[in-house]
Amino acid sequence: MPFPIKVCVICKEEFELKPGKPGFANRCPDCSESDEAVKPGEQPKVDREANAARREAMKNLLYRKDS
Ligand SMILES: [Zn+2]
Repeated sequence: MPFPIKVCVICKEEFELKPGKPGFANRCPDCSESDEAVKPGEQPKVDREANAARREAMKNLLYRKDS
């Protein structure tokens, strides 16, 4: 059985979607690799802002409880 052929959303190349392929199912192996190589462990900006907002909300909650 041939693997299903997908078109990569990044480079628009066709690739075989093999079972167990790492990364996104709509990205070719090359683009999946380059994406994983980008700064492992560094949080995206959105996550940091969400964390800051959560901390702020927690702080407000505590202050309200004290008063
Ligand atoms: Zn690609």
